[in-house]
Amino acid sequence: MGNAKKKSVMLIVDDVEINRVILAQFFKSDYEILEAENGEQALSILTERKIDIVMLDIIMPVMNGFELLSRMKQDERMSSIPVIATTAKSEGDSEVRAMEMGAADFITKPYNPTIVRIRVRNVMARLENEWRKVEQEAQSQQIVEMRRMIELDSLTGIYNRDNFYRKSSQIMQSNSDMQYAIVYLDISFFKVINDLFHMETGNLVLRTAAAYFKHVAEGIGVAGRMEADHFGMCLPMDTLNMDELIAGLDNAIQSLSIQHNILFYAGVYPVSNAFLPVDQMIDRAHMALNTVKGKYQRRYAIYDEKMREMILEEQMILREMEYALDEGQFSINVQPIYGVQEKCDMGAEALVRWYHNEQNYISPGRFIPLFERNGFIVKLDRFVLEECCKLLAKEKEKFGKVVPISVNFSRLNFYDETLLDYFKDLMSRYGLEAWMINIEVTEVSYTDNPLQIIDATQKLREAGFKVIMDDFGSGYSSLSMLRNLPVDILKIDMRFIQDVATSFRAAAIMKNIVQLAKDLEMEVVIEGVETKEQLEFLEEIGCDLIQGYYFSKPLMTDDYLDRIEREKSEGAL
Ligand code: C2E
Ligand code: CA
Ligand code: CA
Repeated sequence: MGNAKKKSVMLIVDDVEINRVILAQFFKSDYEILEAENGEQALSILTERKIDIVMLDIIMPVMNGFELLSRMKQDERMSSIPVIATTAKSEGDSEVRAMEMGAADFITKPYNPTIVRIRVRNVMARLENEWRKVEQEAQSQQIVEMRRMIELDSLTGIYNRDNFYRKSSQIMQSNSDMQYAIVYLDISFFKVINDLFHMETGNLVLRTAAAYFKHVAEGIGVAGRMEADHFGMCLPMDTLNMDELIAGLDNAIQSLSIQHNILFYAGVYPVSNAFLPVDQMIDRAHMALNTVKGKYQRRYAIYDEKMREMILEEQMILREMEYALDEGQFSINVQPIYGVQEKCDMGAEALVRWYHNEQNYISPGRFIPLFERNGFIVKLDRFVLEECCKLLAKEKEKFGKVVPISVNFSRLNFYDETLLDYFKDLMSRYGLEAWMINIEVTEVSYTDNPLQIIDATQKLREAGFKVIMDDFGSGYSSLSMLRNLPVDILKIDMRFIQDVATSFRAAAIMKNIVQLAKDLEMEVVIEGVETKEQLEFLEEIGCDLIQGYYFSKPLMTDDYLDRIEREKSEGAL
């Protein structure tokens, strides 16, 4: 059971190994990857194996891309395999020529991961649509009974996707005085149900849900199954009560007595123009759904303009990130970490800043999560690290001494085997030593894939870098787990200090964590300290290292250097 669908096969043809490696990296989780160094090798693979898509470098020795493309088009065994041509920016009009010769699309090097993925997905989706069209045409010539079968989803007996689209737009367009809503529903972790129980159980859930949706829509709207565990409904806005709809659905599912929490989530798109293609309406309802999926408190969300803006902003960020980095739109701020006993800065944290243009500041909370999803964070974190090195080198030159800086490193970085060499190389290039850099890793990074992270951070420590566990207390690692983690400094999640004034528990937890850290011979940093009262509490429980607006906001690097100069002249440093 839980048989994984067989992966599609991608053939990457390029004479330069690194180019193949990069593409393989982007797609290896979704495709089985085969590689060829030239057209000749590719051709022999194409005759031996079933290939679903080819990524083809145009300029290669032995047999170049154009020649391979034309051979493929002449051979009916491979003429319909989609080919995406890969070219360097400077190769003139070769992409146009490739398209004329039948390539489905092209991408240019250096590869932008987002664009590459989107292009491949589009090409594959186009192909799928063509198949669907062919299938439909064949089917529509069959007898009435066959027609009924394609109209209806064979498992649940309600409309399938295409007919849901057709019926919904009919009903919305012929009742143009009424406002409708498109509802998109999806079970969270449906795959788990199929894996845990028999597939029949999964099917039973789908049939029950479908019957319920059909019942709700009876006489007033349309219900359909889009695919897998995704359903769509088209209902008049004035009859729509989402709380009731979901409660009724929960009831129906609970009546099946399955020993597993099955939760439907929904997104709602209030239709403003009945002539918009229904698949676009579904997309918007889907976007709304994505904002609540997996959150227990909220089971549905309604699409609004704010959401649209958020999504547009997301797209803008993904489109512009590479350019922004090249153009110097990213910079760092530095926030001092103050030693209360020592009465001077004992360290500082680098925080990335993005000034999109003169006025427009985008906060890290908005782009970091996106970059963690698409991998760009690795590049950005390295940029920040290098900026820190430049700053430290300046400090060293100006003052003859430096205050260590910590950088935030997302967990994606630790899957790279060359990370340690990268650190060492930077240090020697800027004439710095390992103790000058601390590496902040969030607590949740340790929960996901502990072994790899533990191994990578341990190596860094052995080389002399200190590792800070950031946001401690925000995840689920137990205090006892700390004993086994390669961590030098604990940084307590800001929430605790902010709750201390109002919550006896937060204060008690804080006190215990600090005690435990001392027992384990770890240093503790408290961040987010804003008031005198908070500071007094921390002094009382024996905390020394403090970061927060009370001592200093994050500073521009020049202001930070001024601050060090001042501390030095006052004899503190
Ligand atoms: P974080 O690592 O927990 O960083 C601390 C955040 O708290 C910063 O927000 C900082 O400006 C803010 N802060 C500092 N003192 C106070 C205070 O007294 N009160 C309050 N309310 N806030 C305070 P920022 O700069 O917006 O960064 C947000 C998050 O973005 C960071 O949280 C970190 O997770 C991430 N981030 C920032 N720079 C980088 C980076 O270069 N790489 C990676 N991977 N993540 C970064
Ligand atoms: Ca941090
Ligand atoms: Ca933090």
